Amino acid sequence: MPEIAFINNVFMPLAEARVSIEDRGFQFGDGVYELLRVYAGRPFRLIDHLGRLEQSAHALGISLPYTQDRWAAVVAEAVSRSGFHDAKVYIQVTRGVAPRDHAVTGPMTPTVAMTVRAMTPPAPVLYDQGADVITVPDIRWARCDVKAISLLANVLAKQQAREAGVFEALFVRDGYVLEGATSNVLAIQGNTLVTPPEGPLLLSGVTRKVVLGLARQAGVVIKEQSVSEADLYAADEVLLTGTTIEVLPVARVNGRPIGAGAPGPITRLMMDRFRDSRV
Ligand code: PLP
Repeated sequence: MPEIAFINNVFMPLAEARVSIEDRGFQFGDGVYELLRVYAGRPFRLIDHLGRLEQSAHALGISLPYTQDRWAAVVAEAVSRSGFHDAKVYIQVTRGVAPRDHAVTGPMTPTVAMTVRAMTPPAPVLYDQGADVITVPDIRWARCDVKAISLLANVLAKQQAREAGVFEALFVRDGYVLEGATSNVLAIQGNTLVTPPEGPLLLSGVTRKVVLGLARQAGVVIKEQSVSEADLYAADEVLLTGTTIEVLPVARVNGRPIGAGAPGPITRLMMDRFRDSRV
């Protein structure tokens, strides 16, 4: 199956994709992105992802060069050219190419880059037994709701998790847990699901939104409020959500077991309901 790239209106094999070294994405991390899944040939929650792309671009003063219909057509064509039934689609839009200068000098043509690649889900053992996570200080900027390609703090956090032999690092700011390096975090206490509210300090996850809807349908009480590190330790269950992981149970935080130290009933219900909702 070919891995496909789409660069500024041209489809090509991924290995042939090139952008200028003067692209502001390369020079400054000056751009936005989305990652979405394709299940059985169909993009999942495409409109939500395109809406967030639009919001991120707007926050940085980048005007997206395509309408939603055009994006949808391009994604569909890329998926069809790839032949993948299950895939991940990465969309990136940078401010464009210009001689290096921090300030934005004049109008620029945004660079559009898209790839379609095979999706390898996380190991099944993580879903069966739950994942280990650590907490790390949140050293990111104050606009984490913007899905910007400049991800240094997330890269360092994920690497710290990798070196600690765990799956994810959760960002803690002023004692409150906000989200993972590549995921949102939710805690279950009794029949209540608690998760930090949307705002500038975390990304409004598409999967988070889906799971909150599924939980509500299942009669779970939802509270979007701050979650301290102590709240996490005291929770009956903790779960992560994200496009690549879907719904992932957390077994331990910093080595301390959550609940029974294994996936709990509400997490399992959410895992099942999420899988059912994909088709
Ligand atoms: N938070 C961060 C920092 C992320 O990078 C991601 C996904 O990459 C998420 C949350 C989860 O968002 P979504 O469910 O839209 O993939």
